[in-house]
Amino acid sequence: MKVSELAKELGIAGKDLLSRLKAEGISVKRQTDVLDEDTIAYIREMVSEDDTKSTGAESSAEVVTEPNLETTDTRQRIEIIGDEILLEGTVTLQEFAEALGKTGPSILQTLVKMGKMVPLTATLDDETAEALAEKLGYKLVIVEDEPVEEIDESLLQRRPPVVTVMGHVDHGKTSLLDAIRTTQVAEREAGGITQHIGASVVDLKDGQIVFLDTPGHEAFTQLRARGAGVTDIVILIVAADDGIMPQTVEAIDHATAAGVPIIVAINKIDKPNADIEKVKTSLVAHKLVPEEWGGETQIVEISATKGTGIPELLDVVLVQAEVMDLKTIYESPAEGVVIESRLDKGKGPVATVLVSQGTLKVGDAIVCGHRSGKIRALLDWCGANVSNATPSIPVEILGIAELPSAGDVFKVVENDKAAREIAENRQEEMQEKSKPQTTKISFEDLFAKVQTGAVKELKTVLKSDVQGSLEAITDSLTKIDVGDVKIKIIHKGIGAITDNDVNLASASEAVVIGFNVKATGATQKLAAKERVEIRTYRVIYDLINDVKAALEGMLEPEYREVILGNAEVRQVFQVSKSGAIAGSYVTSGKIQRTASVRLIRDDTVLWEGKIAALRRFKDDVREVLQGYECGISLDGFNDIQVGDIIECYGMEEVERS
Ligand code: GDP
Repeated sequence: MKVSELAKELGIAGKDLLSRLKAEGISVKRQTDVLDEDTIAYIREMVSEDDTKSTGAESSAEVVTEPNLETTDTRQRIEIIGDEILLEGTVTLQEFAEALGKTGPSILQTLVKMGKMVPLTATLDDETAEALAEKLGYKLVIVEDEPVEEIDESLLQRRPPVVTVMGHVDHGKTSLLDAIRTTQVAEREAGGITQHIGASVVDLKDGQIVFLDTPGHEAFTQLRARGAGVTDIVILIVAADDGIMPQTVEAIDHATAAGVPIIVAINKIDKPNADIEKVKTSLVAHKLVPEEWGGETQIVEISATKGTGIPELLDVVLVQAEVMDLKTIYESPAEGVVIESRLDKGKGPVATVLVSQGTLKVGDAIVCGHRSGKIRALLDWCGANVSNATPSIPVEILGIAELPSAGDVFKVVENDKAAREIAENRQEEMQEKSKPQTTKISFEDLFAKVQTGAVKELKTVLKSDVQGSLEAITDSLTKIDVGDVKIKIIHKGIGAITDNDVNLASASEAVVIGFNVKATGATQKLAAKERVEIRTYRVIYDLINDVKAALEGMLEPEYREVILGNAEVRQVFQVSKSGAIAGSYVTSGKIQRTASVRLIRDDTVLWEGKIAALRRFKDDVREVLQGYECGISLDGFNDIQVGDIIECYGMEEVERS
């Protein structure tokens, strides 16, 4: 019997039993370890003794009952807008006081004066809240909770976990997925299988596991940025001969930001230079403490190419899934998410979807994003026709008129007509939405959001050119102390700001801060689309001050940088007297003699300053337009290289709203 099974029998958490066993000096490492009969008998007895002890205590000693407070609705929200207090759900007196920027005792005094006595921790009833609000010069508006659909618990059934494999390049993501398929699946389908879609289902004795086969955190976060987090569990793969690398850290941060549990697979243990202990030690630095060291992270040692440890890894996944108690309703019209789509020459638009709830059937009318359709055929991950798909199970659907996008949510509706109508409505909504919108979270409106309590922490993705400044900035940022707002760095790294960073920020409502690094044009476009604010700095002091000022609502008038143009250095001439002249070609916009410029190499800003001379042939000129060549010398910088980009920019003041 496994630790997890015994825990279930005894009605305690697997991880509690594990630490209990360890405390008893029984050598076990993880919840999938098998216990011998003697140990099982011993533990059963011990736990039943515990039970009698505790019931005995309850009956003899004086019983202290908890004050009978209503539990606070976790979805409660209180917001002050003008002289109105908007209240959704319930709040305690203390929370009410805090929302108004007052101390608990001062509000208590007001109440006492009104002839009421309520403990600070008690839930305020609507009547008292209303009277109190009026006394303080506000009007209370009770916002009705959105009706929660009642789910009949008895209809819920277990669904298989959906797993994504992440890790640094070459650490073995693909090999692991291959190994899982060949060792676990090939037996079922004699002669092997040809995978058909970007997801696969592994059938095990104790249940099924679904793997998303677009490994890596890019796809994971992209889907999440679109509001479609489908992954239940992340397997983080770390090569034992290479250890934790930058993309390992990114993967950890992306999974953590999504709140998805991580199981670590230490791979390539067959290699002579594998250093498993070193990997474990460095995992601790990233808050992944191995279970065997008293932490919560399950670690499995594997070799993807040799097939070692794969069954154990799958076991750990199943146990984790059981702990998570993933349940949903099967008997209802299906809903789910598109994980990929493509245009097939013969079949037309096809999409791979993952059913999140209900059962999808051939013949169903669906709305998918802002498109409608009727399911003509369903193909399972091996390409076989199936009549339905249950929760978590990936299938390819045929029958949608247009190509949907990954992340689109689909839903089965009554009939074709309803599907068309809903799709049309959604199209209109989309057109509404395509009008410019404000950023999700920005320095500009941070203060207002902090004031109303809508924001309690400023989440940031921090990128820098070198490790030293990254650490210095992290240090200063975490020390900022303005009111109750915390600064939380959800990811930090070295190098240019990437699409990944923007997607992570978008999915987590964070801002991106760059120090001496920039985002490429494409990434800036993505940020605009995702409504993510990117702020870049050259001086740490400015960065820290801006964050402080934003939190205090005291930002200086903002100047927005306008890029005037870019030139690419094609040749460098060393002229003894005036230093280096960059023979350049203006690739976009224009280069202006008097504007500021920065020199960019490999997406990193190396230098910023003014132009010393701008020439066309022998003449000094005021500006050079796109498509022309020119000679540029920089005021105080001579280390120019071929391939460098000279970016020319100006500043314009942004109107404050
Ligand atoms: P990915 O980039 O993370 O998908 O990594 P791959 O799965 O492509 O693996 C990268 C390289 O590592 C390939 O050459 C694999 O054959 C090798 N590799 C993967 N797993 C193992 C392993 O367990 N042992 C050894 N020795 N090599 C492995």
